[in-house]
Amino acid sequence: MAFLQLDDVAKAFGPVSVIKGIHLAIQKGEFVVFVGPSGCGKSTLLRLIAGLEIISSGTLRLDGRDITDLPSSKRDLAMVFQSYALYPHMSVYENMSFALKLAKVNEAEIKRKVERAAEILNLGAYLQRTPRELSGGQRQRVAIGRAIVRQPKVFLFDEPLSNLDAALRGQTRVEIAKLHRDLGATTIYVTHDQVEAMTLADRVVVLRDGRIEQVGSPLELYDRPANRFVAQFIGTPQ
Ligand code: ADP
Ligand code: MG
Repeated sequence: MAFLQLDDVAKAFGPVSVIKGIHLAIQKGEFVVFVGPSGCGKSTLLRLIAGLEIISSGTLRLDGRDITDLPSSKRDLAMVFQSYALYPHMSVYENMSFALKLAKVNEAEIKRKVERAAEILNLGAYLQRTPRELSGGQRQRVAIGRAIVRQPKVFLFDEPLSNLDAALRGQTRVEIAKLHRDLGATTIYVTHDQVEAMTLADRVVVLRDGRIEQVGSPLELYDRPANRFVAQFIGTPQ
């Protein structure tokens, strides 16, 4: 049994079918990237896993438990939103501790977790600043820190680098890869950027129009694209 298992997962908005019978098995510690053109259903699939959209049919299992009908807060997953989702009036420390406070974790434990996350993310010197006083890359790291302190079973990222400039994007991408190596956390990462997909992923899931076109390691996709769509998307010369 895989760590995270999707069986025949489907989602329709009214009459419009957006996710169509997805089967996927993700192993513990894997870094899986969902890639595909705009509108193919990447965000919707991630939001179904997160419990932010109600599934139309199919089942989701995480760590041996059926989570299909569990509310988002009970799923042990953390979604990293883009950095503009930070609370602007709160310090970095307060932003990172907010969810733990709500969960009534005690102060000493909160402090330990936030300081550990800040160390991993190189934010130790910035804990008393507000988001306004940080660079775009630092803000994105705070957004990641908010997920880390919750010690989720799975990290979910939806295009976390899309509002950073090119230089910062490269740097933050390297940091996300390092974070994954350090924590060994199971991660699902959505992007429409082939370079991000190919450099970060253990396995890439290529989506098209709500269906999986191919799943494989970056090398497998590059060497043996299943069809023309995958080849063109990955950028394999044909
Ligand atoms: P991607 O993240 O790959 O760009 P999305 O998952 O955001 O794609 O969207 C997939 C399709 O579902 C699109 O056609 C989009 O318009 C549609 N869609 C997404 N969310 C909703 C919604 N809440 N209501 C209706 N249609 C939606
Ligand atoms: Mg999207």
